[in-house]
Amino acid sequence: KRAARFQGFAKGLQRIQCQSSAAAPTTKLFIDGKFVESKTTDWIDLHNPATNEVVTRVPKSTKDEMEAAVTSAKEAFKSWSKTSILSRQQIMFRYQDIIRKNMKALAENITLEQGKTLVDAEGDVLRGLQVVEHCCSVTSLQLGETLQGIAKDLDTHSYRLPLGVTAGITPFNFPAMIPLWMFPVAIVLGNTSVIKPSERDPGACMMLLDMLNQAGCPPGVVNVIHGAHDAVNFICDHPDIKAISFVGSDQAGKYIYERGSRNGKRVQSNMGAKNHGVVMPDANKENTLNQLVGAAFGAAGQRCMALSTAVFVGEARNWIPDLVERAKQLKVNAGHVPGTDLGPVISPQSKKRINELVQSGIDEGAKCVLDGRDLVVPGYEKGNFVGPTILTEVKPNMKCYKEEIFGPVLVALSVDTLDDAIELINKNPYGNGTAVFTTNGATARKFTNEIDVGQVGINVPIPVPLPMFSFTGTRGSFLGDAHFYGKQGINFYTQTKTVTQLWRDSDVTHTKAAVSMPV
Ligand code: NAD
Repeated sequence: KRAARFQGFAKGLQRIQCQSSAAAPTTKLFIDGKFVESKTTDWIDLHNPATNEVVTRVPKSTKDEMEAAVTSAKEAFKSWSKTSILSRQQIMFRYQDIIRKNMKALAENITLEQGKTLVDAEGDVLRGLQVVEHCCSVTSLQLGETLQGIAKDLDTHSYRLPLGVTAGITPFNFPAMIPLWMFPVAIVLGNTSVIKPSERDPGACMMLLDMLNQAGCPPGVVNVIHGAHDAVNFICDHPDIKAISFVGSDQAGKYIYERGSRNGKRVQSNMGAKNHGVVMPDANKENTLNQLVGAAFGAAGQRCMALSTAVFVGEARNWIPDLVERAKQLKVNAGHVPGTDLGPVISPQSKKRINELVQSGIDEGAKCVLDGRDLVVPGYEKGNFVGPTILTEVKPNMKCYKEEIFGPVLVALSVDTLDDAIELINKNPYGNGTAVFTTNGATARKFTNEIDVGQVGINVPIPVPLPMFSFTGTRGSFLGDAHFYGKQGINFYTQTKTVTQLWRDSDVTHTKAAVSMPV
C-alpha cells in the first residue's frame, strides 16, 4: 500500500537508492556526478516516523569514499571556477524550474522519511527553492566594487571570488530547505561542494542532486557523503575544505565551529532556539491565538523558528483557555493522510525526550493544561506521535523553559508588563527569533528596539527572512560572522581580491625609487 502511495517518486528513487535482495533498499552516495553504492559495512536504519518501519538504510561512508568526494570537488573546482557566470546562472534557471516541477515528489519523500505533513513538506521545498531563485541573480550578487582615480592614473577594483571546496552539514527537520541554503549559493559563485545531509532523512537531498544533474551541472561540482560523527570530523579536518556551513543542534554546532575554525576554515553555524511570542492584551485575539497555535504546533514543533514559548502580558493571560481549545482542534496523524495538521516526531528517542521534559515541568510546578503524551493514532500505533501539549505557570528556572524541547509543546509564562517580557527574553541565551502581537505601534517599536534577538516578528509568528535578506539568528543560536543566504551568504562563500592598477598614457620616468609611504 505504501509503495503505491509513493509511486510518484519511485522512478527517482531507483537512481538514488539501491534495492538489494535483503530488507530495505540502501541510499546511495553521489560522487563525481554519479549515484554510487557505498562499500561500507556500517549502515544506519532509517525509519518512517509514522510506522517505525525501515524505509532505507543509510551508509556511513568509508574514508576512501569521503576522500573521493573531496578529490572530485577539488578537481571540478579547476574548471567550474572558470566557467562563465552566465553559464552558472543558466544552470540555476534550469534548476529552479526542475525543482518547481518536482515539488510534490520531493514532498512525498520528506513525509516518508521525516514525517511532516505533505503540505508542510511542500513548504519546506518552496523555502529552499526561493534560495535557488535568488541565486539566479548572481550576475548582480557577485559584482565587485570599483573606484576610479584614487591617485593620479591609479584605479582600484575588487572581485568576489570563490573559495574552493566548501562543505555543508544539515539537520533532519528541513531535509530540502537547508541543503538548498547551502550548495546552490556556494556553487553559483564558482565554489564546489561536499554535502553531508542528516543521516535521518537524506532522501530529499539526494533527489535534489539528481535534479541538479538534470539541470546540466558538471560532475564533481556537488558531491554527497553520508554518515554521522566520522563524516563530520572528516569535513572539519580535511585541508582541502575551505568553509563549512552547519545547521543543527547546539552540541554539534559548537563542536563543528570550534574544530573547523581551529583548522583554519570559515564556519557558519546555526543552532538551537527557544523562540518567545509576546501576547499583549491589546492584540487582535483571534489572529494572535491562531498564529500562536500554528507556530507552536506546526511540523510537530520541530522547527527552529517554532514559537515554543508564549509570554502573556497582563490580562492577556485570560486567553489561555481559548488557546487550549484551538490546540485541541488540531488533527494528529501520519503526514500523508489528508487533513492532518501534525505528523509524528522524528524518532522514539525524540518522543521520549519530549515526554520527559513535559514531566519535568509538571514535577517542577507547571500545570499541564493540554497533554498529548499518551496519544495513539489508530492504524499507526507504532508511530512517534505526540499531541499538542501546553504547560502553563512555567517559570524561567524550570528545565522545560531552559531547554529546547523541539516537539509540539508550548510553554506559557505570564508577566505583568512589556518591560518584564523584554527582560525575560533578553536573559534567555538563545537569539534566533521572537514575535510580539499588538495593535499598538509604539509597543511594537519599543519591542523591536529593545529586544536582543536577531529576527523579530510583529504580528507575524515565524519571521524566517526571504533570501534577499539573510537568516540572522544571534547570541546562543549562531556562531560565525556571515549568516546564511542573502548578501551575507554571498560574503560567506566568496573572498575578495582587490586590484590597484596604474596605467599612464604619458611616459613619466622617475629618477629615484620612492621608499617612503606617500604623504
Ligand atoms: P543534530 O545536531 O543532531 O544534527 C545535525 C547534523 O550534525 C547532522 O548531519 C548530524 O549527523 C551531525 N551531528 C549530530 N550530532 C553530532 C555531534 N555530536 N558531533 C558532530 N556532528 C553531529 O541536529 P538535528 O537534531 O538533526 O536538528 C535539530 C536541531 O537543529 C534543533 O536544535 C534545531 O533548533 C536546529 N536547527 C536550527 C536551525 C537554525 O537555522 N538555527 C534550523 C534548523 C534546525
